[in-house]
Amino acid sequence: LQNGYSKKKQLDVVVVGAGLVGSLEALYLAKRGHRVRLYEYREDIRKTPTARGRSINLALSVRGRRALKDVGLETHMIKEHGIPMTGRRIHRTDGSTYAIPYDANTKQCIYSVGRNYLNGQLLQESEKYENVERYFNHKLLEANLKKGSLTFLKTDTNENVHVTADLIIGADGAFSAVRKAMMKRPFFDFSQKYIEHGYLELCIPADDNGGFQMPPNYLHIWPRGEFMMIALPNQDCSYTVTLFMPFTKFKSLDTEEKLLAFFEKYFPDSIPLIGKEKLVEDFFAESPSPLVAIKCRPYHVEDKALLIGDAAHAVVPFYGQGMNAGFEDCTLLDELFKKHNDNLAEILNEFSETRWKDTFAVSDLAMYNYIEMRDLVTRTSYRLRKAMDDFIFWLLPNFWVPLYNSVTFSTMPYSQCIKNREWQDKVLKRTLSFAGLAAVIGAAVAYKIRYKL
Ligand code: FAD
Repeated sequence: LQNGYSKKKQLDVVVVGAGLVGSLEALYLAKRGHRVRLYEYREDIRKTPTARGRSINLALSVRGRRALKDVGLETHMIKEHGIPMTGRRIHRTDGSTYAIPYDANTKQCIYSVGRNYLNGQLLQESEKYENVERYFNHKLLEANLKKGSLTFLKTDTNENVHVTADLIIGADGAFSAVRKAMMKRPFFDFSQKYIEHGYLELCIPADDNGGFQMPPNYLHIWPRGEFMMIALPNQDCSYTVTLFMPFTKFKSLDTEEKLLAFFEKYFPDSIPLIGKEKLVEDFFAESPSPLVAIKCRPYHVEDKALLIGDAAHAVVPFYGQGMNAGFEDCTLLDELFKKHNDNLAEILNEFSETRWKDTFAVSDLAMYNYIEMRDLVTRTSYRLRKAMDDFIFWLLPNFWVPLYNSVTFSTMPYSQCIKNREWQDKVLKRTLSFAGLAAVIGAAVAYKIRYKL
């Protein structure tokens, strides 16, 4: 076995879902020497590279990078594949743009990575481990979590397959079948919220010379108050453009004329970039997709089953943290495996007890960030606050970490990021009211002196 692992009991783990998080978790467990069987509903993504997942590309930040580093993939994903995005580039309705750097002081950035590419890399890496087996076209039908038994439908032959495991890890996404089995158990809390907005993906192709049509090192945003459009760069010099908007608005754009008039009004500079014909074709080719946020707990059943990734905590995508948080689950889990020396009851219990506060927090942060991205970024108050945050951060980098930096460029627990921001709000409020009070008193004193009262 790899890494000299031989003395401890080898656990037999089934991971359900070979998406981003399940594939990564398989690597972490394989590195610890456990036997991992990875079951995935879809075909092998490496053989169907054009298969559409949810978003085509994703923003990878520090929490995700830390996990990729642990499994030996960070350098490749960052240096050879990822496209650095150093800030937001805001597009006004008159077509002019300006940049808001993510981190003016230390120049940290996030990276645009291809979802399928990253998923393929994680699966490919797992081929290096003899203790990982991959089963594609296997859909989990039901599970007895207490017994550790599962039934899959082999979708290419229509046969049922029964397996048992020491540990079942549900990494089967927002509509998790493992979670469905957990929901039958007492004391399992669950809530889901569909927001009124959906999303639709469009594309800005490369220019005639095969280059980017816009500056590539930014996350481009067209903030329009109630809705917004964003664009992330791809390796082939195209951009994946995502329009987030209320479903009612999508529905109202039911003819080519209405669509083009809408784009002329709100996103005029994007029309020549996307191309009129392509815009119409792509817009009407697919229906907008819904966005759901899911909170649940506990994440485990005794020493037998655990939920991770979107199966445990699907969040709306506006902080670019869904995958990053799922990857962080795997890192934290690995630390618990070390801490508790592979004792599953203790590992799963501690994960469940400690992780929910942070996943609930990132869910709330993601809801908030939609308002920031589509509306607040255009306001003077937002820019003033950002300038103030950046200045104090520059002055006192260890003392004052702005919210976005703490979420994106640090591994501070998400719940702590919120507390930190609340503390900063209080300090600024007090300082400003103190400064305001001092100004009023100063003016009164000056008035008295001036008129010898
Ligand atoms: P999934 O990616 O959903 O994978 C689950 C896997 O389980 C799939 O392969 C599925 O086929 C399989 N499966 C499902 N049911 C079964 C079953 N019954 N049996 C067997 N297998 C099954 N996150 C970021 O960090 N940064 C971003 O910029 C970002 N942008 C996003 C943009 C959009 C529009 C959306 C929708 C999400 C975005 N996210 C982003 C979130 C990110 O996509 C998810 O958090 C991430 O994909 C979660 O990975 P996962 O492996 O837990 O789930």
